[in-house]
Amino acid sequence: MNKKPLTKPPDLIILGFLNTRMNLPKDDKQNYLSLKKGYEGEVMFNSLTENLECNCLILNGLLLEVNNTKFQIDSLIITQQTIYMNEVKNFEGDYYYENQRFYSSNGTERKDPLLQLKRSTSLLRQLLQNLGLYLPIEAWVVYINPEFTLYQAPRNEPIIFPTQTNRYLKKINTTPSKLNGKHEKLADKFISLHMEESPYPKLLTYNYDQLRKGITCEVCHSFSIFVRGKNCVCGECGHEEEVESAVLRSVEEFKLLFPDWKITTHVIHDWCRVAVSKKRISRILRRNFKIIGDRRWVFYE
Ligand SMILES: [Zn+2]
Repeated sequence: MNKKPLTKPPDLIILGFLNTRMNLPKDDKQNYLSLKKGYEGEVMFNSLTENLECNCLILNGLLLEVNNTKFQIDSLIITQQTIYMNEVKNFEGDYYYENQRFYSSNGTERKDPLLQLKRSTSLLRQLLQNLGLYLPIEAWVVYINPEFTLYQAPRNEPIIFPTQTNRYLKKINTTPSKLNGKHEKLADKFISLHMEESPYPKLLTYNYDQLRKGITCEVCHSFSIFVRGKNCVCGECGHEEEVESAVLRSVEEFKLLFPDWKITTHVIHDWCRVAVSKKRISRILRRNFKIIGDRRWVFYE
């Protein structure tokens, strides 16, 4: 049972919006692409664990803290006897180990996922101890991308390669498991301890004038949107979306990017910059938000 479904991390959502509307500085662009890739890997792994039929509890994307140290867990599977902790990596291309160091094919040393795993396993163990709810932990680095190759991989380390994922999950699936209140309590505890980090990129500053305005296509993110009757139509991919839903989507995007701004017809009309009249925008806002203030000073929450 999926106790904590996978959700797109807010920082990835915000960086995605910014990436569509401005040229991100090189480091932020890099950060965005690597977050995006990592998330796609988690989606892939999640689509496999979702099919588990054994009696288990699945928790995705946990950010926990123990003794003032934060750590992240991509996927946790609680079964009767074991907690499976999975560090999911979506690396692509060739990598190698040499003298217990981890490198990408061009010889650049990278953060060793095994060290990361050891650190989070130790922290999870400490947390379980503090909670007084002990279950043995089995921790794995799961390489999910079928285009990944690791040369000189150590044989006895906890690594699951793409060719082993099915076998790994099958093993979990066929191990008899019967959960009780203790397991539920543990899962609930993890969820209550989960922390949301501020999604706003730390050093990246942006302002309204810098960002390209307009409604974007919800499928291909292009700005080639025109209005035909009740619908917004994408000139690139042909996707159609009701004007109301496209405007509301743009309002949500605006609110996330500028949480301190007040939502007014004028602001949203400028933000959407599409052939939708102010009157229509105002009607949509009135239908979907609470009106605060009156006449000229009206805004929406
Ligand atoms: Zn499109």
